[in-house]
Amino acid sequence: MIIVIDGPAGSGKSSTARRIADRLDIEYLDSGALYRTATLIYLKANRDKETFFRLLGQKKISFYYEDQIFHVTVDGQSVTDEIRTAEVTNAVSEVAALPRVRSFVNNLMREVVLDGVYIAEGRDLGTAVFPDAELKFFMSADLEERARRRLKERKEKDPGLTLKEVKQNIAERDQKDSKRQADPLKKADDAIEIDTTNLTFEQQVDKICLEISTVLKETE
Ligand code: C5P
Repeated sequence: MIIVIDGPAGSGKSSTARRIADRLDIEYLDSGALYRTATLIYLKANRDKETFFRLLGQKKISFYYEDQIFHVTVDGQSVTDEIRTAEVTNAVSEVAALPRVRSFVNNLMREVVLDGVYIAEGRDLGTAVFPDAELKFFMSADLEERARRRLKERKEKDPGLTLKEVKQNIAERDQKDSKRQADPLKKADDAIEIDTTNLTFEQQVDKICLEISTVLKETE
C-alpha cells in the first residue's frame, strides 16, 4: 500500500511524512533523496552524461529510514549528508529533468514499495509514479514561508546560508520542476491539497494522519 505526498521544495512534505511514518509505524520513502543521489553521481562523473549513465547502471544504491533520517548508500558508502550539499541542491533539477534518470529512480521506488505500507514524498508521485496510490496529498505554502523553513533546517550544517539564497534556489527549482517536460511537479486531480502556510507542524501532521487512519481502518 502506498500513500504519496507531492509538493514544492520547503512545503513540509519531508518532515511531515517522516513524523507520520513514525506515528503510524509505516515505511518512509524520500524520492528527492534518490534524485539527489543520481545528481551526486553526475557531479562525480564531471557532468559527462555518457560516464554518468554508465556509472548509474553500475552503482548499487540502497536506502532505508531510521531515527528520522532517510539513509542512502552508494556501493556500501553512506552519501546521506553529501546529497544535501549546496552543490547537489543546485544541480538536482537539471539531472531530475532527464527522462532516463526519472525512469531509473521510478524503478527503484516501484520495486521497494511492493512489500509493506509506505508513505512516499516527491513531485510527481501521485501523477506519474504511483497514479493508483491509495491516498494522495499535495502540500503547498507560500514561497517566503517555505524559504524560512528551509533556512532553519539547513542553518546548522551551513551557517553562511542566507534567506535570499534559499529563496532564490527554491524559486528556481519550483520553476524548473514545474516547467520540465518529463513528469513535472503537478497536483494530481484526486490529491487532497493542504496549504501549510498558516498551519503549525502538528496541525498539518494531524490533518494528514486523520485521513490516512480512516483509509487504513477501511482496508483492515
Ligand atoms: O525533495 P527534494 O528537495 O530533496 O528534491 C530534490 C529535487 O529532486 C527536486 O527539486 C526535483 O528537481 C527532484 N525531484 C523530482 N521528482 C520527485 C522528487 C524530487 O524531480 N519525485
